[in-house]
Amino acid sequence: MVRAIVGACWGDEGKGKITDMLAENSDIIIRFQGGSNAGHTIINDYGKFALHLLPSGVFYNHTTSIIGNGVALNIPYLVNEINSIVEKGVPKPKILVSNRAQILMPYHILFDEYEEKRLGKNSFGSTKSGIAPFYSDKYAKIGFQVSELFDDELLKEKVYRVCEQKNVILEHMYHEPKIDPEELLKTLHEYKEMVEPYVCDTVTFLHNAIKEGKNILLEGQLGSLKDPDFGIYPMVTSSSTLAAYGAIGAGIPPYEIKDIVTVVKAYSSAVGAGEFVSEIFGEEADELRKRGGDGGEFGATTGRPRRMGWFDCVASRYGCKIQGATQVALTVIDVLGYLDEIKVCVGYEIDGKVTKDFPTTAELKKAKPVYEILPGWKSEIRGIEKYEDLPENCRKYIEFIEKELEVPVKMVSNGPGRHEIIYR
Ligand code: GDP
Repeated sequence: MVRAIVGACWGDEGKGKITDMLAENSDIIIRFQGGSNAGHTIINDYGKFALHLLPSGVFYNHTTSIIGNGVALNIPYLVNEINSIVEKGVPKPKILVSNRAQILMPYHILFDEYEEKRLGKNSFGSTKSGIAPFYSDKYAKIGFQVSELFDDELLKEKVYRVCEQKNVILEHMYHEPKIDPEELLKTLHEYKEMVEPYVCDTVTFLHNAIKEGKNILLEGQLGSLKDPDFGIYPMVTSSSTLAAYGAIGAGIPPYEIKDIVTVVKAYSSAVGAGEFVSEIFGEEADELRKRGGDGGEFGATTGRPRRMGWFDCVASRYGCKIQGATQVALTVIDVLGYLDEIKVCVGYEIDGKVTKDFPTTAELKKAKPVYEILPGWKSEIRGIEKYEDLPENCRKYIEFIEKELEVPVKMVSNGPGRHEIIYR
């Protein structure tokens, strides 16, 4: 059975925890898009980890972790991340890297930096991990596949060809140092040595695994609103964040994805620039940020303070819809226990009209939140294991959200730990 875990909003919904938890009963966990630009925070028996490139299943002995063909593969980053968890006492995980994954090149990171610098105050708020230049090159057909590292002649010809183009831009547009093709070749030879132990024809591996009835988990990064087609374009990421893309980015038949667990946080947060209708500011935001997540809402990759907001039914319902959510995992609800009243955004007012449908970016810029106010529960709910034992107002909040989402909330997470979960 193939299951996907994806986010409904801007990312940071708590997917890492849910993946780590569901990985316990999985055989294979796959990253299918993105790169090291976002992070998952996971707390388990080995400690607290922020994973960026490795799938969240790496903490189990019985799982195989796969970097799918859809991922932006930063090879030294991968090797460092493996070493860093092993140093903390985690048994060396079984990792496979698709021979069709493309390599995030050192110059992708530089181009990301240079472009953000050039844009100045109009920058995208990129994490400068090279993701946009990487995917641009992939679709411009000048990317490097892992398999190409193993063909010296092809590699050399391509390195020289690509450097010619990159160097024109470096010299005349950014006024930055040019790339030396021989040095780049040397780096790529090092990359080959680093990645060789993991390279695999993951398509064949996965098709066999499906035939054998293995439990497979597709792990999404970021969320629906960062999808390049359906998100808040252009303030999006450069690869699809949707479960449907899991089939492409892992190389499995789309009809095999039977369950799409969509993670939704009990309030909103976002990193980077872009539309965020229910955003809050000032003390109200500081308080929620400080109490949020596990030790505050700060980016797992950048440490940047996250932008905060109330729960947005319009964005979350849309986010679930485009994911094709079969169930929702509602996370971080414990954090709201301090509030007397909780605002929930139930509609957007655009040019005097209220809509419940998520609009395109141009319309979104004009949207003002329409709030409904629900009573708080004013108590600590961590440690509660049964849904019936939650305070009445907490259950009402969950049921209100469920009705708005139009998807069953089957899991409620009331703490950062692996087993802090209430099944419904
Ligand atoms: P991801 O990228 O979607 O995995 O999200 P992050 O890892 O960036 O953000 C989730 C944060 O919230 C992490 O610090 C988690 O440890 C924490 N977290 C996850 N679920 C819960 C929960 O139910 N309650 C609390 N208090 N923290 C949670």
